[in-house]
Amino acid sequence: MPTACCPHCLLPISEDAAAGYPFQPIRCPSCRLAVAPGRAKLGGDTPSQAVGSGAAAGVLKNAARRADDAATTPQEVADALMFAAGKLATSVLRLRMLDYEYLTRAHTELPTVGTVLATHGSWKRARREVDDAQRAATAD
Ligand SMILES: [Zn+2]
Repeated sequence: MPTACCPHCLLPISEDAAAGYPFQPIRCPSCRLAVAPGRAKLGGDTPSQAVGSGAAAGVLKNAARRADDAATTPQEVADALMFAAGKLATSVLRLRMLDYEYLTRAHTELPTVGTVLATHGSWKRARREVDDAQRAATAD
């Protein structure tokens, strides 16, 4: 089923939407703006495929920075990113922030994108450091 994303903020609303979604006006859970029937952006199996990851990632990053979440340990981030990469059948280095954010809605025990950014400074750096640690751990 295609992912439906908000036409305003581009963040995902539902991951199993049918054509014409939403069927009644709803409020986007991320930006709180109204989404009229049939106005959600549909497509792809993951949020980043549905809207193209560039614009939505920028929106998400700004929202995450505004949320001002506290940092956690690199180990917790590593566990979370490896779990997410496994769930999404990708590698940590290819894990998209948008898809990770969507996963945290179903897995609320995972650190938020804001927490990952606060811990590592950027999504790219978080991915690289987790990948490096993974390689070091499997080297011997
Ligand atoms: Zn929205």
